[in-house]
Amino acid sequence: MSLPHESRSPDALMRPEVLAQSAYQVSDATGLIKLDAMENPHPWPGGLEDAWLEALRDPQLNRYPDAGARELEKNVRAAHGVPEAAGLLFGNGSDELIQILIMAVAASGRPILAPEPTFVMYGVLARAMGVPFVGVPLHRDFTLDLAAMHAALAEHDPAVVFLAYPNNPTGTLDDPAAVQAIIEANPGVTVVDEAYAPFAAHSFLPEVGQHDGLMVMRTVSKLGLAGARLGYLAASAGWIDALDRLRLPYNINTLTQRSVAFALDHREALDDQARGIIEERGRLSEALAAIDGVEHVFPSQANFILFRVREGQGHASFAALRDAGILIKDVGRAHPLLADCLRVTVGRSDENDAFLAALRNALAG
Ligand code: PMP
Repeated sequence: MSLPHESRSPDALMRPEVLAQSAYQVSDATGLIKLDAMENPHPWPGGLEDAWLEALRDPQLNRYPDAGARELEKNVRAAHGVPEAAGLLFGNGSDELIQILIMAVAASGRPILAPEPTFVMYGVLARAMGVPFVGVPLHRDFTLDLAAMHAALAEHDPAVVFLAYPNNPTGTLDDPAAVQAIIEANPGVTVVDEAYAPFAAHSFLPEVGQHDGLMVMRTVSKLGLAGARLGYLAASAGWIDALDRLRLPYNINTLTQRSVAFALDHREALDDQARGIIEERGRLSEALAAIDGVEHVFPSQANFILFRVREGQGHASFAALRDAGILIKDVGRAHPLLADCLRVTVGRSDENDAFLAALRNALAG
């Protein structure tokens, strides 16, 4: 029996708001200096790569991975000081954990809430699962608007509030007291997303596990392991047990488990690199602020810097940089507060110098 064609098309079977969305865009960086994705620009120091390959010997790829990633869990707990009372859930990147969290609360009838502008995946994944999303504008300087947040919490009774700490794309690390106030006022769960923790001065991780209202999400991506795809969620044991029911079996593959466990065993090399990136962030911020045509450089506690160029020149500056062989991120159209803003990842010093020279040219032209 043949069905009329329309009955099996995406239009017939998928929600219009998902069809209206474009797939996550990743720019082709072939041949370009890549400063668009908050990666650690440094290779592993000499000798470490050989030791890692040695650790991958006899990978037993004929077998499924350790479903509970027990070895990895031990290493993560030791490396990052996860409180004993907290449980851990691993995801294929923290993106997968965001997806699991939203899936978990989808039928509650309560929305997902986040300040905006922020990491786009909170909204994208809420829409994908048909869960309402409430964005609460930040102040113009990208600090939290506490009054607006309190009003929104009372009005919308969210299931989950996501707070990127530091925030992407702004680099802002909110006042811990403001975050604490939201955790206390939120009738739902607050997820403090610490993707940029290696570069930030404060963390909420030590406070996880004491009550159901706070979870902390981390990733190894920015630390220097973006290719491994591993994120983790620290939360009360009760929450981790519940969320684990939604995790796909064997979601963390054997190569990732072994590679990240190895890297965390040798984390002083990655920690050194993070310290170097923080130093370079300071130099880059100062140099950016001195460029004619850069109107504002926002203070960053992450491994990237958000800056605003002269009115109307955001997209043109991005395009001129790309033509000069440098890929950054044009976030100017992502939110009205971000007009003419660009985001540059802190690269190696030679890459940063090339970026600064090209930006000077672009803004002079
Ligand atoms: N949270 C924030 C705030 C991010 O900026 C990103 C990546 N850009 C992620 C989570 C996702 O990280 P990953 O999936 O690589 O772990």
